[in-house]
Amino acid sequence: MLELPFHYPNLCQVSEEIPLIDTHEHLQEEQDRLALGEGLDFSYLFFRPYQLADMVSSGMTLADANRLQSDSLGQEEKWRLIAPYWQRVGYTGYGRAVEVTVREMYGIPGLNEETYDEVTAAMRARNKPGVHSWIIREKAGVALCILHNIDGDGIVYRQNADPVLYCQALAVNHFLQNPIPLEKLATITGVVPDSWASYQALIDRYFNLYHDKAVAIKNNCPYWRSLYFDDVPDNRAEEIFRKAYVLGKPITLSEVKALQDATFHHSIRQAVRYDLPIQIHTGYLADNYNLDLSRVHPANLTNLFTQYPQARFDIFHTAYPYQAELAALAKNYPNVYIDMCWAWGIDPIGTKKSLQTFIGAVPLNKIFGFGGDVWMADIVYGYARLARWGIAWALAEMVDQGYFGEEEAVLATRRILYENAQEFFNLPKKVIP
Ligand SMILES: [Zn+2]
Repeated sequence: MLELPFHYPNLCQVSEEIPLIDTHEHLQEEQDRLALGEGLDFSYLFFRPYQLADMVSSGMTLADANRLQSDSLGQEEKWRLIAPYWQRVGYTGYGRAVEVTVREMYGIPGLNEETYDEVTAAMRARNKPGVHSWIIREKAGVALCILHNIDGDGIVYRQNADPVLYCQALAVNHFLQNPIPLEKLATITGVVPDSWASYQALIDRYFNLYHDKAVAIKNNCPYWRSLYFDDVPDNRAEEIFRKAYVLGKPITLSEVKALQDATFHHSIRQAVRYDLPIQIHTGYLADNYNLDLSRVHPANLTNLFTQYPQARFDIFHTAYPYQAELAALAKNYPNVYIDMCWAWGIDPIGTKKSLQTFIGAVPLNKIFGFGGDVWMADIVYGYARLARWGIAWALAEMVDQGYFGEEEAVLATRRILYENAQEFFNLPKKVIP
């Protein structure tokens, strides 16, 4: 499965063996995975790594999707719910990632009626301290992940993350929530902000505390709003903040947006101050019934690219399905970079074609080739294999067609999977093997 282009042995070798910089993960903490104990089973391969959303798209009811995630169902019942849809979604990138993980990482000949309990047994047998390192480092060949925690309201930085496996992006999305989780955010100072100025000071405190540990900031706001951020003056932000959080009055949707706009501009200025790259979700959204394509365009960010020439924008997910729009932006703006995280799972074949477009249009140093974007570590393996396979074939096809030679393809692979991200995020060489 996912065979490499063996007619180019040097390209195959680098594609297979180079350690990856993984620009984006939401991985749960290992201790939480260990705590699942006998509750861990094959169905976890379908949860937050998105496979369940493809099943709903294929016809599974939302009620069944919810039942699947309840602990009270046994393995057999879970398999009966999944089986009809697994046949439908096994062909997508999400499905391939599960299948290749089962086959190659656990050494079981595919996920089916006969093997699901064997898959569960293999997952439980590996569920011991060090399991994340085994999956991420040893099997997937990832040198370092950049983690965006999804641990809950107001958790901007995960305190106990393993510093060998992970660097972190400051989760500035919490600053942009509605309502703002002020009390939770204020736990680091003990003082709940009572003005726009004191809210800015609280945000600054996070930057001050974590700027030398974090390697980026992350904003995933297209899940709840558009990517267009007006430059709102301080007196307007103060007026809205006071109305909502001092006087406790309801605010309109446009006031909510304006306060978030001002907050993100402020976060960008702080990121520039500390030279932290700005990771932004653009394009496709996880789950179902939520994709409003009009608000996820990377072109919505153009005013920020112009206003902050010193900021460095890491634009996520190839802006799928707006890859060409992102290529044009990254070609034009020196401060815009393309990040292929999650894209190998969303659409592996389209992403292979997009990579050829990116290489032909955008300077090579501006392409980051891999991020899994998952909560369940096992699937990092599947997405890493898809990325290694897709990048090798994208480049092999370009060599086949005489665009460049194999040695140039090898150098490009090194850049795309390792060197570009290592330089861009100033990653500590000491923690990377
Ligand atoms: Zn993500």
